[in-house]
Amino acid sequence: MEYLIIGNGGAGLAAALTLRTMDPGAIITLVDEEEHPCYYRMRLPDYICGWKDRDSVFYVREEFYREKKIHFLGGRKVARLRPQNRQVELEDGEVLGYDRLLISSGARPRDLPVPGSQLDGVVYLRTLDQAEDIIRRGRVSSAGVVLGGGLLGVELARCFNELGLKTHYLIREDRFWPQMLDVTGSALVEEVLKEKGILLRKEEGIQEILGKEGKVTSVLTTSGEHLQADMVGVAIGVVCNVEFLEGSGLEVRQGVMVNDQLRTNVEGIYAAGDVAQAFDPVLGEHRVVTSWLNALRQGEAAARNMAGEDFALGGVVPFNVIVIYGLPVASIGADEASSPEAEVIRVHQPERRIYRKFLIKDGVLVGANLVGHTADAHALETLVRRQVEVGGFADKLAREDFDARTLIRELGLD
Ligand SMILES: Cc1cc2nc3c(=O)[nH]c(=O)nc-3n(C[C@H](O)[C@H](O)[C@H](O)COP(=O)(O)OP(=O)(O)OC[C@H]3O[C@@H](n4cnc5c(N)ncnc54)[C@H](O)[C@@H]3O)c2cc1C
Repeated sequence: MEYLIIGNGGAGLAAALTLRTMDPGAIITLVDEEEHPCYYRMRLPDYICGWKDRDSVFYVREEFYREKKIHFLGGRKVARLRPQNRQVELEDGEVLGYDRLLISSGARPRDLPVPGSQLDGVVYLRTLDQAEDIIRRGRVSSAGVVLGGGLLGVELARCFNELGLKTHYLIREDRFWPQMLDVTGSALVEEVLKEKGILLRKEEGIQEILGKEGKVTSVLTTSGEHLQADMVGVAIGVVCNVEFLEGSGLEVRQGVMVNDQLRTNVEGIYAAGDVAQAFDPVLGEHRVVTSWLNALRQGEAAARNMAGEDFALGGVVPFNVIVIYGLPVASIGADEASSPEAEVIRVHQPERRIYRKFLIKDGVLVGANLVGHTADAHALETLVRRQVEVGGFADKLAREDFDARTLIRELGLD
């Protein structure tokens, strides 16, 4: 059997490893526009900050591909698919065949559509090369502006701050990450940012980026203020890498539509990770979930099906875990806006910077927000995804020492 995988991120690599285990004699080819061996994108901020060395960013080494007999075509971009011939055409003209194809091409940062956004010094963070460019620029910069009120925005603001830049952090919303955290959760994060000297400006965007001789010099904010900047970091969301699928016959909405086996609408083609749009049992609709855990899980599940199993993943739910200057934050499943009728259980210990909120709908845990204590986040994600009845445990959830890992064990779900 010949397997072809587009994308050497978490999803693609998990799929390649699973295929190698399940089908020792198979021909496995991994093609990626980037040349590096697979790495942890979420470790890039710590690498930029100088908290982690370059080596620790990598998930596997170069020799891994040789050892596992995976043909890695790094630095090669896929231009288009020809499903009718079971072929993929690369930008350099080479054509690759396959019996089963996995699309795990991930996502990229959304561009900022304002005048001046093409100036030298406007940066995004998705790849190792971009991280190293930010490190280089940081050495000769003294002030920066970051735009974007989510996980990647706050990570960029931390990077700028740790590189020694005077950092203005603009968020368009009236508080930090309202899509994921409630007012209390946002306030705890904002406190930490303030302590670290990051200058948070709420309900503020970028109207224009100004420069001299092609280089950024300042930012004109939406409230009309000028902020000096040598570097401008943009993190206003991501878009799925789907352009090369045009004309392929694949159903693409925000991402590539897949069923619970990660199959697309075209025979022999699967999709996984940040590029896949899969069913969320809590919201009752298909959604793109951009997280490392989801990429690994979907990559593995897709591979099992590519190798001939009939394995259902059991849906996806939004799941984000991040540590902001030592403060762990997790957001799982639905929030009060998407599930207004849910019962809410809260535990708040401001002096310890701990805040935990659980949303229960019809006896089922549909969402959770955790700040300060997130050790059981994965266990909570399992409860949400598997739609476990927790009505009988509501008193436990409200206890300060509640840990979902114990509950998972008691329920036999670990
Ligand atoms: C700075 C940062 C911090 C993050 N922090 C966290 C975190 O704390 N927790 C968390 O869960 N998630 C985090 N994430 C998100 C997480 O890294 C992603 O969800 C995950 O890496 C997605 O994996 P993937 O394999 O689906 O896609 P990717 O890792 O994006 O891999 C896709 C690959 O496909 C390649 N590709 C795309 N198009 C083509 C083409 N046409 N031809 C050839 N190759 C192509 C790309 O070069 C890329 O290497 C973070 C992401 C970033 C950038």
